Amino acid sequence: MTYDYGKRRDKLRRQLGKSGFDGLLVSHRPNVRYLTGFRGDDSLLLLTANGEVLLSDERFRQEIEETCPGLDAEIRGPGATTMELAARVIRSHRLPTLAVEGDSLPVAQFDRLASRLETTELQSASGLVESLREIKDRAEVAAIRRSVQIAEKTFAVIRAQLTPDLTEQQVAWDIEHWIRRFGGEGCSFPPIVAVGDRSALPHAVPASRTIGESPFLLIDWGATYDEYCSDLTRMIVTGRIPPKFARIYEVVLRAQLAAIGQIKPGVPLHNVDRAARKVLEDAGLGKRFTHGLGHGIGLEIHEAPRVAARQDRPLRPGMVITIEPGVYLPGWGGIRIEDDVLVTRNGHEVLTSVPTRLESEPS
Ligand code: ZN
Ligand code: ZN
Repeated sequence: MTYDYGKRRDKLRRQLGKSGFDGLLVSHRPNVRYLTGFRGDDSLLLLTANGEVLLSDERFRQEIEETCPGLDAEIRGPGATTMELAARVIRSHRLPTLAVEGDSLPVAQFDRLASRLETTELQSASGLVESLREIKDRAEVAAIRRSVQIAEKTFAVIRAQLTPDLTEQQVAWDIEHWIRRFGGEGCSFPPIVAVGDRSALPHAVPASRTIGESPFLLIDWGATYDEYCSDLTRMIVTGRIPPKFARIYEVVLRAQLAAIGQIKPGVPLHNVDRAARKVLEDAGLGKRFTHGLGHGIGLEIHEAPRVAARQDRPLRPGMVITIEPGVYLPGWGGIRIEDDVLVTRNGHEVLTSVPTRLESEPS
């Protein structure tokens, strides 16, 4: 995929101008990646009204030359710290004010930097790059599509190879294996494989429970491709479908479809959450839906926007969000269904395609 980093930086520059800052020190790794294509860590990007410079160290010199041709870079040797280098470069730009990414820059580093700058006022800013990242461009959507494909091929293999003696941990490892075999860089987060009542833990850690110990299990997994994430959840029924399971599953699925049906540009995010919650509340399960409905995906597995109550901002074309209602009954189990949805110009497109219909009939 080819990404237009220069265009992204120009957009950010315009935002910065509007916010009244003379520069932004980008420290959050996914943001540096988004703006430059550079994939290493421990590096900063200083962006000002008329340019930008990547601050890194010797380990990354060659990679920067290869992956970010034309980008100005200042490389520090082993004798200097990142903040010493940053202070030197910032001083040379004579910036009256500089925004730093308060959500990710550790306080100790902020202090170290501030103590070296007499004439630049540092201010914490939030979400400047993240708000650009909310809207995916064509190349990003293509990368997410690939990531979804890899995750779905993986699921097909996992499902076909499921045997009663496999443990949750073994299935989780197989997921990682197949994602890599199918061309993904890895899992977008440690997969959740939860058998029976363990699925009542929304973030269950795979353990020694075997598939055969319950008629159903939950798998929440995703791949990364070009560092772009996918994120899906499916329930697998391995035995006869318990009637209670079928009943709740049907409600969760209806909640999910109701929410997806709401998705189009201009609709406030909380309306989408509300649509799912209403279905669950009407079925008496509202209190069992204990988390927000979804989140943005991109270079991070959880990124803006959040799809939840009180999020009154509107959906915009190019957002990619998960829709994942769940019902959790401690001691019995949980049911969650999660798909990835692109907001299009006129509506939406569900990027994921693993069927959500239960395969066997209720017993
Ligand atoms: Zn998930
Ligand atoms: Zn998710």
